Amino acid sequence: MDIIPAIEKEILSQPKRIVITMHTNPDADALGASLGLAAFLKKKNHHVSVIAPTAYPEFLDWLPGIDEVIIYEKNNQQLSFELIASADIIFCVDFAILNRINELASAVKQTKATKIVIDHHLDTEDFADVMLWNPKATAAAELVYELIEALGETDCIDKSIAECLYVGILTDTVSFKTPNTTPHVHRIVANLLEFGVEVAKINKLVYDSNSLNKLKFLSFILSNRLTVLPDYKTAYIAIKSADAKQFNLNTGDTEGLVNYALSIKGIVLAALIKEKYDRVCISLRSVGDFAVNTFAKEYFHGGGHKNAAGGMTNLSLEETINIFETLVKNNQDLLN
Ligand code: 5GP
Ligand code: MN
Repeated sequence: MDIIPAIEKEILSQPKRIVITMHTNPDADALGASLGLAAFLKKKNHHVSVIAPTAYPEFLDWLPGIDEVIIYEKNNQQLSFELIASADIIFCVDFAILNRINELASAVKQTKATKIVIDHHLDTEDFADVMLWNPKATAAAELVYELIEALGETDCIDKSIAECLYVGILTDTVSFKTPNTTPHVHRIVANLLEFGVEVAKINKLVYDSNSLNKLKFLSFILSNRLTVLPDYKTAYIAIKSADAKQFNLNTGDTEGLVNYALSIKGIVLAALIKEKYDRVCISLRSVGDFAVNTFAKEYFHGGGHKNAAGGMTNLSLEETINIFETLVKNNQDLLN
């Protein structure tokens, strides 16, 4: 199917009931791309609802349109199911496999709505009618920009939409540092800046708005919870539930921590292993050829990108650490 004419026919012909949903534990790309798309579609007179399966990080509470996000897990189950069941179109943003939206998966699968995926993750599942999917894209926000451009609608972009898309690209490229940060991406960002994006303001909001408490937590973690395995070019941070409690952490407060482990000279593989309720979540990052998405998929029920992936286990923190260390040791050849 030729994607753009198909979307054009669906979304520009007449006002529709549209649901935009994103992956659990939404990050700045999932939210920015979804809210940028939502604001664009509203300008085209559609009725748009944005559903996040779980809560978003506090440091993103300034995003234009964030107040309208329906958080499924926060007593919005019935509303979410109703909106999905009655939607004409569902956009799945920043994910392409349904297990990324937990209990919303079956509702999305069953609904008669046209399903449009906008994603850049490597793992995909065959459930959508239209796939706007490019694993080489830095961010779902990049794909939303390209969609608006391909529809010939860049005139609809305003400062708020541009800031939503900018923050997605900014964070998914780790401030334009990942290897997929091409001239093309910089051109898109340059175009977004033309719409008035306040770069300094947004970078301050995203990266330099720490609470003192969060900095103390960081100091504690780096002093007490960081393990470096130099023989395997690996470093990991393991966080206990008690640590999060002690420092009164909010949603999103551990976001980016894994990058401290990865920032150590010579480190190729980094992990953040975090106890969360009855499970253990793992965030993986790598530099170069070591593919963490396969690691996440094979051993931690997860997935993601080549250099950034995540997953979980139902084991204890200690058991998860043991498995991780064993895997690292078994992969010594690839890590060196
Ligand atoms: P993070 O470590 O920041 O949570 O996630 C890194 C990347 O891996 C993100 O692109 C995220 O969407 C993806 N990811 C994280 N957890 C999972 C998971 O459980 N399953 C899959 N398929 N992808 C994940
Ligand atoms: Mn993304």
